[in-house]
Order: sequence, then structure tokens, then C-alpha cells
Amino acid sequence: MKPSEVLCVDTTSDKPDLKNMTLDEIESFIAGLGKQKYRAQQIMKWMHQAGVTSFDEMSNLSKTFRAEIESQVRISSLIIEKIQASRDGTKKILFRLEDNNCIESVLIREKNHWTLCMSTQVGCQMGCRFCLTGKGGFTRNLLPSEIVDQITMARFNTPEGDNIKNIVMMGMGEPLANYKNTVQAIKIITNDYGPAVSPRKVTVSTCGIVPMIEHLGNDTPVNLAVSLNASDNETRNMLMPINRIYPIESLIEACRTFPMPRRRRITFEYILIAGVNDSPNDAERLARIMKGVPCKFNLIPFNEYPESEFTTPGDERIDAFQNVLIKHRYTAVTRKSKGRDILAACGQLRGQVEKHENVS
Ligand code: SF4
Repeated sequence: MKPSEVLCVDTTSDKPDLKNMTLDEIESFIAGLGKQKYRAQQIMKWMHQAGVTSFDEMSNLSKTFRAEIESQVRISSLIIEKIQASRDGTKKILFRLEDNNCIESVLIREKNHWTLCMSTQVGCQMGCRFCLTGKGGFTRNLLPSEIVDQITMARFNTPEGDNIKNIVMMGMGEPLANYKNTVQAIKIITNDYGPAVSPRKVTVSTCGIVPMIEHLGNDTPVNLAVSLNASDNETRNMLMPINRIYPIESLIEACRTFPMPRRRRITFEYILIAGVNDSPNDAERLARIMKGVPCKFNLIPFNEYPESEFTTPGDERIDAFQNVLIKHRYTAVTRKSKGRDILAACGQLRGQVEKHENVS
């Protein structure tokens, strides 16, 4: 196979980017050069496990072989523009892409490890009304390399990087609106010679693009999270425009049939917004419509930001909502968003560089 025939050729260079390729694709490319397949494993390990960005550093490949591949392909790399630390330990990493757009990832501290919340698009076109990311509009899809490199760069450039155990695709963008590149990135991230994250530790979060949920279940063994945020169509239509195309009933049906090993559950994220979706009646209806779906709930009190049209419910209201779900034997956890002081909390990623900084 010629390098130009591999999937996901990017437009920023004439040469295809090796970081966009799965192991199979690199093997085909290497075989086309008359070399043994195991060389592909070595190259992948250099890129994703050693974090090298030049062929010169691949010391177990001969000089002539390095020159040969370098004449045909390249290795891209994200640039870390800034890392901000929150008072609660959360870290936000601002990455610059080759076309000068910026995206963000967030490192979230768990008990004994870290979770990396990754972006899949520059901006987002889904227009969820509570989300600051969506308000910034949509610029473009990320390439597989740009999705994968968020974990490689975080691993090599932060002290927490070694201990990243979970990946959640819950940052900027809707992963299922960038389906092909997201699935390609998952294949690379979970490969033993790539970042080697177990598929059980990867979660894709969607606002509810129903047909793609089914595809995701067939194409990958990852976990599914759904940003639900309402238990009736009227409220969800108001909060999330995608619901006008794929109403709650169709979304829940897609979740019901999502292929999962026994004991795995779908996570439903529910942002609690004062006076909008946070009443005990809302919770009762939620418990009813979810009957039979293997699931758990993450309840996230809305993060207020300057000029936000919504407000955070009081603690009593949040507890009452949670207790209704628990009464119906669901697992329901209230997650106070982390990183609020650095705008790294749920729905607050913007990928912007402050204007006073030199962005050239
Ligand atoms: S909540 Fe997710 S899908 Fe909705 S606008 Fe924000 S980033 Fe996009």
C-alpha cells in the first residue's frame, strides 16, 4: 500500500502523517517498502510510547531506512501552548494545532490515578444551550493524530502523565459528529504498540446522535456516555437541539441495544439546572423512562459562568433529585465539576488563547 492510500490523509502537508495510521496501515506501508512488518510496531512505539517526533531518534532503525521513510511520510505533533492548574488539582492543557487553531484537554484527579478528558473537534456545532464550548461555534474536525497526540503529549509533559488510566472523549466537540476520525483514533489509542489504553478505560460521550451510537457499538468495544440532561422532549428540545432530530425515545432505544459485556453500564450525564430539569418530578420521570437500561447517572450541578442564562440548583434540590434515583435502585453520583476556577469544568472548554499573547 502506498502512503497516499492510507486513511485520513491530512491537508496540512504533502506527506501523509504516520500518526494518523493504525498499526495495520503502517504495516502495509512498511511492507510496500519491502521491509518486515515488525518494523511498524517499532515505529508506533517510538511515536506513541517514547514520544519521539523525528525519525532520527528511532535508533533501532537503520539510517537508510529512516531516510527512506522520511522521504515519504512525516510525524506531526501538537504544541503545548499553556498548562493551567486549578486549586482542586485539575489541569487544563491548551494545545496549538498545525493550522494555529487551539484545543484543550483536561487532566482530572481521581483517587489513585488521572483521567484525561480529550477533545475531538475544534469547537462544536451541536449548540447545547448550557455549554460554553458550543457558544464559540464550530471550526473543524480533529484528525486522528490530533486526538491521539493529546494523550501522548500529556504523558510526556506533565508529572501526572504517567498515571493517566482513563480516557474520556468529553472535551471540545461531539465525537460522533467526527465519527471516522474518532474511531480511527480509538484504534490507535487502544493498540498495544500505541498509547495502549485498555478499551475498558475509554469512554465516548455523545449528545445523542442516535444512528452513530449503533455504529460505535459495532465498531469499537469502548464505553458509552450520554449527555441526557432532561427526561422529557420539551425540555430536552430547549436545551439540546439534537433532540429535535433524535428524540429521547429513540435515544434510549439505541442505548438499550448498545452492545456491552455483562455488568458494564452506560453513563448518563445529567446537568442539573435550577428550575429547568431539577425537580423531583423530573427525577421520577427519569427513573421511569430508564427502566431496563443498564445505566448509572452522573449528576452535575450546572457551572455558572459570567452571563450564563441558567443557575445552579441549591444543595437540597440536588440531594432530593439524587435520592429519587437511588430510591429506584439506580446508581447516581453527584459530581461537583472540577477545575471551575480555570474554566476547565464540564462544558466550559473554549480552546482560546488570550488576546494579549503572541499567537503567530
Ligand atoms: S455539550 Fe458537548 S455536544 Fe453540546 S455543544 Fe457542548 S461540546 Fe457540543
